Amino acid sequence: MPVAAKLQTAKSSIRPDPKAVAARDKAIRTERNCSVARALDIVSDGWAFLIIREAFFGTQTFEAFRSALGIPRATLTDRLKKLTQLAIFRQAAAGSSQRKEYRLTKMGFDLYPSFIALMQFGDRWLSKGKPPPLTLVHMTCGCDSHPVVTCSHCGESVGAHDAKYRDGPGAGRCPAKEGRNTRRASDGSRFLLGRPSSVSRALDIIGDKWSFMVVREGFFGNRRYDKILNELAIAPNILTDRLNRLVAGGVFRRRQYQSSPDRYEYLLTDMGLDLYGPFIAMLRWGDRWLSKGQPPLILTHIKCGHDFQPSVACDRCKKPIIAADMRYRLAYDPNSFGALGPRSVD
Ligand SMILES: [Zn+2]
Ligand SMILES: [Zn+2]
Repeated sequence: MPVAAKLQTAKSSIRPDPKAVAARDKAIRTERNCSVARALDIVSDGWAFLIIREAFFGTQTFEAFRSALGIPRATLTDRLKKLTQLAIFRQAAAGSSQRKEYRLTKMGFDLYPSFIALMQFGDRWLSKGKPPPLTLVHMTCGCDSHPVVTCSHCGESVGAHDAKYRDGPGAGRCPAKEGRNTRRASDGSRFLLGRPSSVSRALDIIGDKWSFMVVREGFFGNRRYDKILNELAIAPNILTDRLNRLVAGGVFRRRQYQSSPDRYEYLLTDMGLDLYGPFIAMLRWGDRWLSKGQPPLILTHIKCGHDFQPSVACDRCKKPIIAADMRYRLAYDPNSFGALGPRSVD
């Protein structure tokens, strides 16, 4: 028998039936209950994210969203409907006219601190030496602000090495959401449409659901390829792809821990560790709005010894950040992005 044919036979005899594999994967695919994942389920849709961001800039009508984002009508209709069903937006009649407006609900406005935490990360790591697109001005204290993620108990800032965690009442696993992880990493470029934004740049790196989950495993201390593979029940080719992207993006570095066979572990870099703030800011939002009072994870601030809720606070006056208290100085021309333009300070 020619070698090629022999190989072919050997290969096909050990190759599992793809249908059986798919059925098995479907049966066992579960994922950790996770408030960050629940938050990202919403904002990792590129269009949904852009619409929410425009709303923070004061955009409220269908036409204003459309002209600011250049989004197709059918897509905008679909996303506004979904975001209204999710209670991120509510519909309101605009004055006496028939025109409808989409206003952020309390739950929608409460995404603001998470966006700000992502923005600070983007400013620090992804501006490529240029000035950040936006400077935040905190009207409460009148200062230029670089908000930080802090402990609700003592008010000190909290980084990746400052907190420990334990299972909360909502801990456990749930069946992996159908279609949740199917978005291709290349779809991320949609985040970069419209106005320049450090939040977009951050989501371009971690907004893809698998990339996010791989980074999360890093925060749980799971560094080794096989361990991550097992924990996430992810296809090996997808895991390899995401790890390569995250290494190229500067979030992980790869270290060999064994030779013949060569094995590697993936360590969060300083940049990767700095994602902790945005992660726990999103965790707080998911806990508050999507966990039905049953948070999957409880965080303890090591320094003060208390359980805490992450808070995003002004670095100058230490007060929590809310959308209504912020003004912006832009490093770009807002007129090139339609809409009303943000509430700028002159
Ligand atoms: Zn504390
Ligand atoms: Zn302040």
